[in-house]
Amino acid sequence: MTTIKIGSRQFTIKRASVVVSSNGQECHGLTDHLNDLIVLSKQYPTHHKDTIIHELLHAMLDASGASRLVSDEELFVRILTPHLLSVIQQLIAKKLLQ
Ligand SMILES: [Zn+2]
Repeated sequence: MTTIKIGSRQFTIKRASVVVSSNGQECHGLTDHLNDLIVLSKQYPTHHKDTIIHELLHAMLDASGASRLVSDEELFVRILTPHLLSVIQQLIAKKLLQ
């Protein structure tokens, strides 16, 4: 378990054996905005990087108030996730972000 600060909020990030969304479906992760909690499933280790970026984007949209500007937040986050992950990995590889 760890925490990450997004704006004025402190989100706790933890892993769980199984993560179930509000609609009852097992999922890779979820963001609980009421409790500033991000839960990542241990079931999908190969998707861990994508999932944490995905859930952090949800948290950033909520913490910044930008979620109200997006009509389909899930689609928005799904489209941005691979691009953001790729850029972060490139920045780390080029030692521009350490
Ligand atoms: Zn999502």
